[in-house]
Amino acid sequence: MAWISSGSSSSELVMNMMRNGLIKSDRVASAMQKVDRAHYVLRREDAYDDCPQPIGHSATISAPHMHAHAMENLLPFLNPGARVLDVGSGSGYLCAVLHHLVGPTGKVVGIDHISELVDWSVVTGDGRRGYPPAAPYDAIHVGAASPHLPQTLIDQLASPGRMFVPVGEFYQAILQIDKDANGHITKKELFDVRYVPLTDESKQRMGIF
Ligand code: SAH
Repeated sequence: MAWISSGSSSSELVMNMMRNGLIKSDRVASAMQKVDRAHYVLRREDAYDDCPQPIGHSATISAPHMHAHAMENLLPFLNPGARVLDVGSGSGYLCAVLHHLVGPTGKVVGIDHISELVDWSVVTGDGRRGYPPAAPYDAIHVGAASPHLPQTLIDQLASPGRMFVPVGEFYQAILQIDKDANGHITKKELFDVRYVPLTDESKQRMGIF
């Protein structure tokens, strides 16, 4: 299903993902339309393929359908004015799309530990620690796999709030972590994935995972 959504332009890619049921809401479609993926990849000729792509430093920009899944899942918490944390923000593509969802009164914080990947916008740092100065967050997207449930990030979720996070070692499951208005946590396993891991900066720079 994923690959057949590829297009020859940004709008064709988004239209194909809508047709294939990967994008369900007009809000996600319109936010994705506003950000040209070609500005966030190394191989511009492959920008509208629905697949991940290396962006250097052992990192990859996720496939468009994975970004779509993440935003569809977090959407009830991505209202105008919401605060959002994107852990492992890499190319910065998702931060840009999220910005269009939460609008000028909202706030999107991206964090990645490879400063070269993020020097134009987001926070350089260990995303496993989250980013306390802007917490709590209505929505947290984690773009690299955590070996275990990331309690530090759960602590930075607002009440109510939702996190979309791949959890596991070699293979992972996407977990939807909900914190209700009373701070009560529930977990839901959505589907299996393979993400690059949340790791130490020095290990990633040496290509060790
Ligand atoms: N979601 C992004 C990138 C996904 S690749 C995109 O689609 O463009 C995973 C990213 O997680 C990489 O950029 C990597 O540098 C980052 N990462 C891995 N471990 C990290 C850590 N401990 N702290 C911050 N970022 C981390």
